[in-house]
Amino acid sequence: MSSLLEVSGVSVSFDGFKAINNLSFQIGARELRAVIGPNGAGKTTFMDIVTGKTRPDSGRVTYGTKAVSLLSMSESRIAQAGIGRKFQRPTVFEDQSVRANLTMALKGDRGPFAVLFSRTTRAQAERVADLAAEIGLSGTLDRKAGELSHGQKQWLEIGMLLAQDPQLLLVDEPAAGMTPAEREHTTDLLVEAAKTRAVVVVEHDMEFVRRLNCRVTVLHEGSVLAEGSIDHVTSNDKVIEVYLGR
Ligand code: ADP
Repeated sequence: MSSLLEVSGVSVSFDGFKAINNLSFQIGARELRAVIGPNGAGKTTFMDIVTGKTRPDSGRVTYGTKAVSLLSMSESRIAQAGIGRKFQRPTVFEDQSVRANLTMALKGDRGPFAVLFSRTTRAQAERVADLAAEIGLSGTLDRKAGELSHGQKQWLEIGMLLAQDPQLLLVDEPAAGMTPAEREHTTDLLVEAAKTRAVVVVEHDMEFVRRLNCRVTVLHEGSVLAEGSIDHVTSNDKVIEVYLGR
């Protein structure tokens, strides 16, 4: 598998504390990857580095077939280059319909007004319908986003990110606060999304990670502690010690 993202020897310190310590790993072009690790392992900082929010002190981060460095690019350039990030809490426009939220995202508009005053082409309307089907919200297109359940809002936000067609999607704890049925749907959605792009899921919930059935990277103290299938990493003594606390 050709790699889409390469993190190589990256370190970052905050006030002398090494949050990321010589971190190296790669993500393939159409790979679903779970990143797990105890609190403070460096998962958020890793996402901050990839999206340009935090600059590392040393190391390389390259992206795409041309292996461009992300380290000199602004956050907005990185987003334009096809890296999307979903934060833990959904940030949808609650007063707008599901359709309007997806349409806005598709047009790349920052706010609802731009959508209300710009024409939506037939192709755009069709793409919105396809996206709604993909995230399981076809039946709620005309409802206000604020009326959706927590799980549905999360899917809507994933749909809004997919509308921008990222090549690499970073998703922070998508299953948090979801019912078992919602988790199952979220698994399907992420597996489907990773068929045409790379998806990195940062997650605490081991059962959820198991269902993703993908390669798992375990972070600890800012480095990779173990990598492989969920069975491989959860039977690793070091992982059991630091992550499972036994
Ligand atoms: P995780 O997401 O795995 O819980 P983080 O990446 O949030 O871990 O944090 C890694 C370590 O870096 C933690 O010890 C955290 O306290 C520290 N850290 C993260 N961001 C900052 C910051 N802006 N200033 C100081 N320390 C930070």
